[in-house]
Amino acid sequence: MQSATRLLTAVASTIVGALDGWRFCARCGGGLQAEENHLRCTSCGERYWANPLPAVQVLLERDGRVLLARRGIEPRLGYWDLPGGFVEESELPEHAVRRELHEETGLALETADLVRIDIEPYGDRFVFSVTYRVTATGDPVPADDVVELRWFSRSELPDEMAFPGQETVLRDWAQR
Ligand SMILES: [Zn+2]
Repeated sequence: MQSATRLLTAVASTIVGALDGWRFCARCGGGLQAEENHLRCTSCGERYWANPLPAVQVLLERDGRVLLARRGIEPRLGYWDLPGGFVEESELPEHAVRRELHEETGLALETADLVRIDIEPYGDRFVFSVTYRVTATGDPVPADDVVELRWFSRSELPDEMAFPGQETVLRDWAQR
């Protein structure tokens, strides 16, 4: 697998900060002023910070193999990915795991245990990516943003995953 650090460094140099180029307040159209670590609207006082986008992903193993999903959308279209997606505004992370797993694979979540958190490059943004090890029932069928689902053994893992932190997740899994 490609070095996760090397890929992250290469991608990070092309990323535009979440607030780079912002000139007007999205709420009232007023002008924005740069403060120490955020932008502030000079009209209504709204403040904007550049934060990573929260997302969840799952590590699901059956019979010694892990379920991966091939991406049907940009960024990283066509790369193998862990099933998952973005957390909605008022949603609990465990609920997002259940919802995304069902949307992308049709599987019903049984258990979810927190594994690790990564900051992943995602297009021109960063994602706060929370990985859960899960169990689930049913037979996986690709849907939503996924074009293919496949079970991979430890010796068959893809050379390069959609996001670099996933390579650490899978390497740790393969060494267990
Ligand atoms: Zn404003």
